[in-house]
Amino acid sequence: MSYQALARKWRPKTFAELSGQEHVVRALSNALDRGRLHHAYLLTGTRGVGKTTIARILAKSLNCVKGVTATPCGVCSACVDIDAGRFVDLLELDAASNTGIDNMREILDNARYAPTVGRYKVYLIDEVHMLSKAAFNSMLKTLEEPPEHVKFVLATTDPQKIPVTVLSRCLQFNLKLLQPPLIAARLSEILRAESIAFEDAALALIARVAHGSMRDALSILDQAIAYGAGEVRESVVRTMLGAADADYAYRIADALVVRDGPALLAEAHSLAEHSVSLSNALEELAALFHRIAVAQTVPDAATAFPDAARVKSLAQALAPEFIQLAYQICVQGRADLVLAPDETTGFTMTLLRLLAFEPAWEATGEAPAAPESATDIRSSGEPVAPEGSTSANATQSASATSAADAARAAITVPEPEAWPAFVAALKLSGMALQLAAQTALKAVAGNEFVLAVPESARHLTDRAYADKLKAAMEQALGRRVRLRFEIGGSTGTTLAAQEKRERDVAQAKTEAAFRDDPFVQDLLTRFDARIKPNSIKPV
Ligand SMILES: [Zn+2]
Repeated sequence: MSYQALARKWRPKTFAELSGQEHVVRALSNALDRGRLHHAYLLTGTRGVGKTTIARILAKSLNCVKGVTATPCGVCSACVDIDAGRFVDLLELDAASNTGIDNMREILDNARYAPTVGRYKVYLIDEVHMLSKAAFNSMLKTLEEPPEHVKFVLATTDPQKIPVTVLSRCLQFNLKLLQPPLIAARLSEILRAESIAFEDAALALIARVAHGSMRDALSILDQAIAYGAGEVRESVVRTMLGAADADYAYRIADALVVRDGPALLAEAHSLAEHSVSLSNALEELAALFHRIAVAQTVPDAATAFPDAARVKSLAQALAPEFIQLAYQICVQGRADLVLAPDETTGFTMTLLRLLAFEPAWEATGEAPAAPESATDIRSSGEPVAPEGSTSANATQSASATSAADAARAAITVPEPEAWPAFVAALKLSGMALQLAAQTALKAVAGNEFVLAVPESARHLTDRAYADKLKAAMEQALGRRVRLRFEIGGSTGTTLAAQEKRERDVAQAKTEAAFRDDPFVQDLLTRFDARIKPNSIKPV
């Protein structure tokens, strides 16, 4: 016996078997049970979500020998013939190949005659938006006053292209994209019935690349079975689809947690070397960020993820705002791949963008070991700034020296002028570092430090950041400390002000260029994002 494609063999034969379109099934079942069926339905939705399948089940419901029913018997001559695609009163027409008025006239003329064997003539017109204007017009008359024995099922992937006059005469149902878990469940059901060995991870991968289409999923599954010699293994499916090994998305996310630039570049290099589709890679990365976002906002919903444990730990290590931003960067990066000089460049650029924004999740209290690695990536392949240069690199090394000095002086309470150096020496990162940099020391009374903060940095005095600053100060000073912030007061000597003066000249041009980049602009406004200080440096 010849091999039958899974999509054909496993096309659902009853409404009960049809997954994912419950809203349509319920409406049609009710109408059938009450005998109040509309004469024309328009089913919209992308390919492979069940439009033709629904039309065929409807045809059986109307023509089953046992009577009009929402649960056709499946064994009578009408049901069997419809399933086999040879029922004379079900007329399937592909508008994509029969767009002309002549075809339509012929069909409509035919509609006047009573059904040959069944109770109803069912016209299934697929891709109906492809019909010509004249064809639509000739159809209109019949749609307005259809003979009692005629039902129309129009299906389209593009309802916008259908004339309003036709739309208004149809009952419209939008078929939903099928969710990956639902597709994976159906695939595993089929493979069990077919006694084919499989790995869940392989099905999850197929379900995701099928983009909501059961038909696509089944034809990929067909390929995978052939490719894997009768088994469906994850590694085989990955090779077949040009997807990389499962872990690279985690490795990239892990590298972002510790801000390990070299690791990111190495990952990009290795993906490109294995000729993995970098578009798929960005897609997979975006999917990972999505799961992390779910874990952060609706933790209960995340427990069902196959990689729940890894997602959870990433959800704790990365800030929710960063995840939102990262998702956007990946999606946009994917769209931009076609515009990039080449795929690898576009992909690498996207990873560097992820690195340029601040991912540290302050609430964990873990200072990422990043500055060193972040410096590595910036310095690799770029000329080292000459001594005395006022570039960001120089600022960094300057603050490194003053850090050592300040560490020696850290035992004593700093004078207001020494405050910036003291702050620079503290083990701070992220928002806490930004807070520290914006403060000026106004007074010390006993354990209490009065710190002036400009109005523009008020948000940085958030408890979470303040506590980290306080902890770092306590560690440096070896005693308890209390912080009091004065918002809006004059803030003479802050680390930020000092660094700013040094940096301004060289930075201004570079930063402006980066900030004026439309993509960056978009991110900044949409997410209220901040560009990590020093991540942009003049070349
Ligand atoms: Zn039947």
